Amino acid sequence: MPISESMVQDIVQEVMAKMQIADAPTGKHGVFKEMNDAIEAAKKSELIVKKMSMDQREKIITCIRKKIKENAEVMARMGVDETGMGNVGDKILKHHLVADKTPGTEDITTTAWSGDRGLTLIEMGPFGVIGAITPCTNPSETVLCNTIGMLAGGNTVVFNPHPAAIKTSIFAINLVNEASLEAGGPDNIAVTVEHPTLETSNIMMKHKDIPLIAATGGPGVVTAVLSSGKRGIGAGAGNPPAVVDETADIRKAAQDIVNGCTFDNNLPCIAEKEVVAVSSVVDELMHYMLTENDCYLASKEEQDKLTEVVLAGGKLNRKCVGRDARTLLSMIGVNAPANIRCIIFEGPKEHPLITTELMMPILGIVRAKDFDDAVEQAVWLEHGNRHSAHIHSKNVDNITKYAKAIDTAILVKNGPSYSALGFGGEGYCTFTIASRTGEGLTSASTFTKRRRCVMSDSLCIR
Ligand code: NAD
Repeated sequence: MPISESMVQDIVQEVMAKMQIADAPTGKHGVFKEMNDAIEAAKKSELIVKKMSMDQREKIITCIRKKIKENAEVMARMGVDETGMGNVGDKILKHHLVADKTPGTEDITTTAWSGDRGLTLIEMGPFGVIGAITPCTNPSETVLCNTIGMLAGGNTVVFNPHPAAIKTSIFAINLVNEASLEAGGPDNIAVTVEHPTLETSNIMMKHKDIPLIAATGGPGVVTAVLSSGKRGIGAGAGNPPAVVDETADIRKAAQDIVNGCTFDNNLPCIAEKEVVAVSSVVDELMHYMLTENDCYLASKEEQDKLTEVVLAGGKLNRKCVGRDARTLLSMIGVNAPANIRCIIFEGPKEHPLITTELMMPILGIVRAKDFDDAVEQAVWLEHGNRHSAHIHSKNVDNITKYAKAIDTAILVKNGPSYSALGFGGEGYCTFTIASRTGEGLTSASTFTKRRRCVMSDSLCIR
């Protein structure tokens, strides 16, 4: 095959980016051999943070935001290189989203009652040192987003990142500490260990200086945290269905669903994992997906082969998670055209590629006989995670019915899933969606204690 100019440019860009990674700061602020030492360091820095003004906290956060933007591409490439998951372009966007839209100290507010009997305030105070467990699917994004929110709330944080993404997580932890030092704050506002394991995680969960643990990951880690005897924020797994009814703009729905499903190769927990469409629109929806949105229609035989590879031995094959559609097709011997972004097929809700949270751009489409049937099947497919769901409809009664039945932390109407993160939608960003414990999209205020401060019979000057 002749090498075109654009191919040469791509190769040069890739090599340059790899060199950039090699040249990136290799400092290891906040990185310890032992978990107990890491916690001790975070405790010391917490005592300093506690005495800081809100203004000083905000200065550090501003510096973190700046450094995230400067290093967005480095972290994106590092994440893809280290985990083999996702794609660089979308990961760059995710880092900018964290920098631009993660709430800072403005999220820490006071509620007041003032009257004849005095003045009462509810203030949001820090927990102290928070333990945070982070996933390999959004490694640096979660570390950075958690640190901004936790620090804004007046806390410091000990991370036990996913071992498969430790290099990227350490890079992000180093970055926030460098930002703190540059802005006049302490080192070790965020810390971790060189080699996180289940054992270091247990030490953290049981440590007397850790009053709150935030777990972002699959069902295992959330259950472990909720069994720890400590207060836990559980941001667990999802399997978000996108429902399409006959009132939807079908052409737009096809585009939104494929865009959401393929973002960062379907790694975000909020991304469309399957579609449930009323029978009368299924063919039209698939037509637009295939003709205008770069989808590949998998035959029955190809679906079976994909199932064998993706769910080898009945277990999710980690080598397939976060891979792009063409790579997945190449694993079953299909050489797909260069533009292919998503693999689609029609199947029953029980199909293993539909019922399992795959985190890759394979999108099964389930046919429903009417809207009530679509809601019933979607609720079944969400598996009671109460995480995220999506709908394309112009019928407010249908939307309301679905919202009540599925009862998820996120419900996007008539848009791609990522608009729930403030990307092409209103609202702030987070990479920790506390689906299981009900806090929903976490932000600085989630990481604070409510304190009632009462002045009896005075300070009311009305
Ligand atoms: P994972 O569950 O394999 O790992 C997540 C983290 O938990 C890692 O740091 C891992 O080392 C740790 N861990 C796993 N089991 C543990 C246990 N028993 N005790 C202590 N720590 C444990 O998940 P992953 O593959 O890294 O990420 C993908 C999963 O996370 C998906 O299910 C996805 O939906 C979910 N997720 C949820 C959110 C959210 O905000 N709700 C965000 C991102 C990912």
